[in-house]
Amino acid sequence: MTTTVFEVGKVNALKPLEGKVAIVTGASRGIGAEIAKVLARNGATVVGTYHNSPKHIQDVAKTIEEEGGKFHALHVDVSVYEDAERLALEVIENFGKIDILINNAGITKDRTFRKMTKEEWDTVINVNLNGVFNTTKAVIEHMLAQNYGRIVSISSIVGQAGAFGQTNYAATKAGILGFTKSLALETASKGITVNAVCPGYIGTEMVAAMPEEVLNNIVSKVPMKRLGEPGEVAQAVLYLIQADYVTGQVIAVNGGLYM
Ligand code: NAD
Repeated sequence: MTTTVFEVGKVNALKPLEGKVAIVTGASRGIGAEIAKVLARNGATVVGTYHNSPKHIQDVAKTIEEEGGKFHALHVDVSVYEDAERLALEVIENFGKIDILINNAGITKDRTFRKMTKEEWDTVINVNLNGVFNTTKAVIEHMLAQNYGRIVSISSIVGQAGAFGQTNYAATKAGILGFTKSLALETASKGITVNAVCPGYIGTEMVAAMPEEVLNNIVSKVPMKRLGEPGEVAQAVLYLIQADYVTGQVIAVNGGLYM
């Protein structure tokens, strides 16, 4: 029997992330679940965090294991700094290093600004923006010490264009873009790239929660006339992880809705 070895230099062309350890926050469903699966399919050992849906993360783990991938689930609230520190420590203890961080966890609490409560503002800032600070802070020294790191944060079209009823969410997603570019500058000479992906409207439970007529109206304005798929966001993340000379960039995955 002959074996075919797919290698480009030292990189296995079929599993380019072999040997890499990745953290994906909010991996229990939607975009995060799809990113976890794509990274695992490409050879990475993936640590996926979940917050309040252990059943969903078990489904993700099952799919990845059935496909022969490596997956480990951890309960983490990204808005809690100590949780992020524990996450980094546990990953290093169990897998020896952290190469890739995907800041995906995010929530919405939509309301017009006049009606928005301080609690709704704070909760979204704490998860979406402080969460990115917490997890990135927890891994950055390790990445600097190993002279390698890939950080990709999931922002949103709403951070670029704004959206009615989403001042809190838009502020976090625009904040992520400024954070990404600044950290990219600080770490560019240290083997670390920091990038962001701005999905448009993707068919996940977050979008399913929107009123139907609002959603239909949005889809009618998308030049591609459809919602995006979580896998289409995951492909952009995979590209950024492999792109050694790309940092501080924002890739929009939005069907042409915002250019
Ligand atoms: P989702 O609601 O399906 O999943 C969100 C994930 O975040 C879940 O796994 C959830 O458990 C996790 N999470 C929530 N609060 C958390 C916390 N405190 N700590 C840790 N994890 C927590 O959403 P999605 O649509 O898959 O969105 C994923 C990311 O993509 C979010 O950052 C979202 O803002 C962004 N995004 C989504 C869309 C879209 O159209 N779905 C568009 C643009 C950006």
